[in-house]
Amino acid sequence: MPESQPITVRQDVPGPERSIAYFSMEIGLESRMPTYSGGLGVLAGDTVRAGADLNIPMVAVSLLYRKGYFRQEIDGEGRQTESPVGWAVEEFLLETPPRVSVSIEGRAVGLRAWKYVVRGAEGFQVPVYLLDSDLSENTAWDRALTHSLYGGDARYRLCQETLLGIGGVRMLRALGYRNLLRFHMNEGHASLLTLELLDEEAKNAGRGVPSKEDVESVRQLCVFTTHTPVPAGHDKFPVDLVARVLGPRDLDPLRDCFHDDGVLNMTCLALSLSHFVNGVAKRHGEVSRTMFANYDIDSITNGVHAATWTAPPFQELFDRYIPGWRQDNFSLRYALSIPKPEVWKAHLSAKKRLIEHVNQTVRAGLDPNVFTIGFARRATAYKRGDLIFHDMERLKRISSRAGSFQMVFAGKAHPQDEGGKEIIRRIFQAKDRLRSAVPVAYLPDHSMEQALWATSGSDLWLNTPLPPLEASGTSGMKAALNGVPSLSVPDGWWLEGHIEGVTGWSIGDKTPVHREGRDPASDAASLYGKLENVILPQFYRAPDSFIDVMRHAVALNGSFFTTQRMMLQYVLHAYFG
Ligand SMILES: *Cc1c(COP(=O)(O)O)cnc(C)c1O
Repeated sequence: MPESQPITVRQDVPGPERSIAYFSMEIGLESRMPTYSGGLGVLAGDTVRAGADLNIPMVAVSLLYRKGYFRQEIDGEGRQTESPVGWAVEEFLLETPPRVSVSIEGRAVGLRAWKYVVRGAEGFQVPVYLLDSDLSENTAWDRALTHSLYGGDARYRLCQETLLGIGGVRMLRALGYRNLLRFHMNEGHASLLTLELLDEEAKNAGRGVPSKEDVESVRQLCVFTTHTPVPAGHDKFPVDLVARVLGPRDLDPLRDCFHDDGVLNMTCLALSLSHFVNGVAKRHGEVSRTMFANYDIDSITNGVHAATWTAPPFQELFDRYIPGWRQDNFSLRYALSIPKPEVWKAHLSAKKRLIEHVNQTVRAGLDPNVFTIGFARRATAYKRGDLIFHDMERLKRISSRAGSFQMVFAGKAHPQDEGGKEIIRRIFQAKDRLRSAVPVAYLPDHSMEQALWATSGSDLWLNTPLPPLEASGTSGMKAALNGVPSLSVPDGWWLEGHIEGVTGWSIGDKTPVHREGRDPASDAASLYGKLENVILPQFYRAPDSFIDVMRHAVALNGSFFTTQRMMLQYVLHAYFG
């Protein structure tokens, strides 16, 4: 995890010309800065870290979230409760002088920005500005707009997105970024930035109202990445709410972005006003093209920031055998030549770290000698965290016949996601039923730090989404960097990273059986079969060949599914293309 470090800012220096401005509703900068909720925010942080490594002139914008996402507590029955996270903003960030103002529901809402600096492997700096409306001049309601990530109702959310999109562009201008080359919208939350850019274009041309040419100029400036095929992931706001929040404006050039039922679809807004649009894996690109048939949608597969997501024992190992891997992640390809005993030793060290953490946190009594399955990601219905518990008698039989195993779970459910909360309760019920036959631990309050321990310290990384809903998934990429193979439903990135028995194993076959036709019983049966007949026997009785899979996970997947490769593709296709 990047440490917070003393920051020196020179406000007189204007932003570099031809920078990329990266906008994201959430961003994972440090584990203890609660400005992220899960995969999307971690990806945003990894994107900026990779940009800094590659010396890409970039600046990132998000909101501050003084009360964070939420702290998760779970009771003995698996019921999640949420509380605000208090954190000392000044310990991590430096306040910057400019103030800008955004009109919301007719009120002028003042905004300031806090600066965080991401330093690349060779010292190049990428600034991140977190917008804060908690200023004495604002009303209590407006001051709370940058308090909670994904909190509140549609009105609260639209106001937040107005601050991010419109306020973000104004803040960058006030900070001296006058000639930005591209605006990259990480998900539709940032789409309103296009309205501010349209107004700028119109104003520069001396027009009161944006014209068709202005729309074309803005399109050349914008890049949009869509992140999910789940409908709830695409923000839609009733046009009367939009009119109330943004005030009267001529939305005529944006008619295409409205559904006939009178909602502004933030994804359509971004799609209509971007010259390059992508999904986050090959399959997700295909699915997005069927969802939004009128648009040209490419794909750039997600990655993770290699140095951030490699646990210390593997960092040391790579430093010894593959010097330069931090600057050039592709060189992890040479992990195939690291001696197997060294790989195993590093893995045991990472595993010990995880098991100690689990036993300390939830007193689970896990055994570092026992095969450990990890599953840590957002708790939500389509991720099916409870699929492995479909047949608990079968699990007990597998454990006694093929070799014992234990499981580590973690993940937060969004406060309003009842389906996700139900998944956590079911995992707790399974834990009680399986007891010592198959020990199960659920770690509360998942974080980036815990994600590093879980993905590096497990022996197998499990993923059971309902296809095609896993747009990419990134935790399996973190596991791969640490030599931890995946057992996963073929969806998202795994369709690209999976080679059976070489980089891990698949659940069910690769033909795209999508959600309607997908039978959980047959996915569970396939999972059990792989575990009982292939994975456990190999782990306990042919460790040499298991370690060979571990090395291939690093060499074939760890080397490729990085944000370094991803950013090079953005440079090639979206930023400078
Ligand atoms: C990587 C990460 C995720 C994303 O996991 P998926 O596999 O994409 O579901 C979520 N939360 C945290 C804290 C992470 O570090």
